[in-house]
Amino acid sequence: MAADPPVFRFAPSPNGLLHLGHAYSACLNADLASEAGGRLLLRLEDIDLARCPPALEAMLLEDLAWLGIDFETPVRRQSEHFDDYRAALEALAEEGLAYPAFMTRGEIRRFAAASAQAEGRAWPADPDGAPLYPGLDRTLPEAERRTRIAAGEPFAWRLDMAAALRRLGAPLRFIETGGGKAADVVAEPALWGDVVLARRDVPTSYHLSVVVDDALQGVSHIVRGRDLLPSTSVHRVLQALLGLPAPVYRHHDLILGDDGLKLSKSRGDTALQTLREAGLTPADVRRMVGLSGEAPASR
Ligand code: GLU
Repeated sequence: MAADPPVFRFAPSPNGLLHLGHAYSACLNADLASEAGGRLLLRLEDIDLARCPPALEAMLLEDLAWLGIDFETPVRRQSEHFDDYRAALEALAEEGLAYPAFMTRGEIRRFAAASAQAEGRAWPADPDGAPLYPGLDRTLPEAERRTRIAAGEPFAWRLDMAAALRRLGAPLRFIETGGGKAADVVAEPALWGDVVLARRDVPTSYHLSVVVDDALQGVSHIVRGRDLLPSTSVHRVLQALLGLPAPVYRHHDLILGDDGLKLSKSRGDTALQTLREAGLTPADVRRMVGLSGEAPASR
């Protein structure tokens, strides 16, 4: 029996204009899928609906069509699948691995600053640079939890990372092919502490929905920016807890601006729309990000 074709995906958030960095990621996924005779999916990561208006989604689709990338349809829009993420969250909560957390980001920052001052050393930060959540809600008495929820106090759901890692036992690993050849990487999820599984304002989080969707969509190869490499450790934990397969990863270099900084959606100069209006072609854009002007022919 023939093996299933590899499945690649590009998963942007439609919360700003696509720039050269997105073009690189999208074209690289398309090239690798085509070279491997694989499938190519597009997923819109729009869980934060307030920041993802339909106009931005339309512009994103227009940019990708202009680049000449052919994604399979239908496109998966995360905001249409909150039930899938809720089911995964419930499974974790039923296992005692997720708990409601009332502390806001501001409260965490203030707690971290006060502790640092009291102890004379910096409070630890997660790999994204945010102060590590101190876990105070994890040990709240159940009665207090219920009272606060009944009173309508907003809360997020967090993963009890220590309990999750105890449950899983042996350290998790993943295959990373970003360095040219496959490397067996040991995941370091503890660096993140009790990550958010569902936000106060949104019934899921980036980590939870990306893991659920990659599995539901049968994604076998995840090709994305190097900035997401640390998140892969969290994703491996969620995959293992939820009994989902581990894809192969390739974290590619980021395209930097002339100032050496990572591109952002708020910088207009490298937006695909701006480049298009300036008369550049998709082949020019491919060359600008270090790919050959022509996409490879599929096998
Ligand atoms: N939606 C994420 C972003 O735009 C990418 C998620 C992923 O590729 O895993 O940064």
